[in-house]
Amino acid sequence: MNVLVINAGSSSLKYQLMNPETGDVSAKGLCERIYIDGRLTHKVGDKKVVKDIPMPSHSEAISAVLDILVDPVDGVIKSVDEIDAVGHRVLHGGMEFSDSCIVNDDVIAAIKKCIPLGPLHNPANLMGIEACQAVMPKTPQVAVFDTAFHMTMPPKAYRYAIPTEYYENDDIRRYGFHGTSHKYVAKRTAELVGKKEFKMINCHLGNGSSLCAIKDGKCQDTTMGLSPLAGVPMGTRSGDIDACVVQFICNKYGMSVDECLNMLNKKSGVLALSGVSSDFRDLEAGEANGDENCILALNKFFYEVAKYIGAYAAALNGVDVITFTAGVGENGPDTRAAICSYLEFMGVKLDPEANNCRGKERLISAPDSKVQVWVVPTNEELMIAQDTAELVNAAK
Ligand code: AMP
Repeated sequence: MNVLVINAGSSSLKYQLMNPETGDVSAKGLCERIYIDGRLTHKVGDKKVVKDIPMPSHSEAISAVLDILVDPVDGVIKSVDEIDAVGHRVLHGGMEFSDSCIVNDDVIAAIKKCIPLGPLHNPANLMGIEACQAVMPKTPQVAVFDTAFHMTMPPKAYRYAIPTEYYENDDIRRYGFHGTSHKYVAKRTAELVGKKEFKMINCHLGNGSSLCAIKDGKCQDTTMGLSPLAGVPMGTRSGDIDACVVQFICNKYGMSVDECLNMLNKKSGVLALSGVSSDFRDLEAGEANGDENCILALNKFFYEVAKYIGAYAAALNGVDVITFTAGVGENGPDTRAAICSYLEFMGVKLDPEANNCRGKERLISAPDSKVQVWVVPTNEELMIAQDTAELVNAAK
C-alpha cells in the first residue's frame, strides 16, 4: 500500500510517500514559499532535486508534488492511481476528534469549527486536504489530529480552574499537542517492553517540547494546553507562565496581547535565556565555552523537564518506563543524563555507556534501575500512514 503523508503549514507543505506496513519511504520532500513564488525540494534515497515552481496556493503545491511523484526521471510511481490514500496532519481537533478519521463533509465542517483553537495551522491543514480532494477526488483522505491522543485525559487533568462558562461556551481546556508522536512512542514502547499494561512518561524534547503521562497506552495528562505554548520551556516558547506577566508587559510597554503572545511563542524559551540560540547544539557549544547564559538556559530546561517527570510519576502513582524522543531527546545524551540525575530518588539509574547514543532505539537505564529508560526515535509520518491505512482498509 502507498500512503501519501501530507503536513501542510501556512506557506509550506511537507510530504512523504510511504508503505505503512514496512515504514519504507519511497520519496519525500518539501514545498516552500507557497503564495510567494514556490520551491519544491524532492528526495528519493540520496538523490535530491530542487525546482522553482509557481505555487500561488496549496493547490499548485499539491499538483507539483503529484507531478514529481509520477515524473519519468525523478518520480517513484507511474500514475497517481498508485497512491491508495492520503493522510493529513491536522493540528487541532478540539473536542470534536478523539481519533483519526476519513475525511467527509462533516469532518471538514468540524475541522473548520476548530479554527478558533488553531488559528494558524488548521486553515493551512484544511487547504492541504481540499487541494488533494480537488486533484485526486477518488483517493480517500484521512485526517490525523495532533490533539486526538490526549482526549483520554480525565477532567481533573484537562479542566482549567477558571469559570465553567469558558469551558462550556468556548471549549477552553487543556488539549495537548504532539499527540501523533506520543501515540507512536507509546505503541512502540509497548512492543519494546513486551507489555500492554504499564505506566510511562514520554518526553518529546525537540524545538517544541511536551511530556505525556501514559497508562496502559492511554494519555492521562500532558504538558501543553489549549495551545502549544504551555509546559516546559522550549526553543523559542516560554512554557508555563503566570498570566499576570502578560498583563504587566502589555501595560508597561503598550503591547497588545497578540504582540505579547508572539514574544512568548517566538522570542522566549532557551533562545531568550541564552541570548544565543534556540538550537540545543549551539547551547551545548556555549556551555562548553563557559557561557553562563547558555548554562542557565540548559539548566532551566533540564530542571523543568525533571519537575514534570516527578509530577507525572505522582499523577500515575508510579512509573515503569521513561522514554526520550524528538531532536533533543534522541540526540542529546548529556540532556538525558542531566534530567535523569534529578530522578535518582525514584530509583532511576542510567547506564552511561548505553546512554552514549544518538538517534537509536535503545534501553539506556542500568539493569538495577527501578524505572526503565529508553530512547525511542519518533516517527509521526509512519503513525499517520498507519492510522490512514487502518481506517481505509477497515472501510473497504
Ligand atoms: P525537532 O524539533 O524534534 O526537530 O528537534 C530540533 C532540536 O533538536 C534542535 O534544538 C536541535 O538542536 C536538536 N538536535 C538535533 N540534533 C542534535 C544533536 N546531535 N545534539 C543535540 N541536539 C540536537
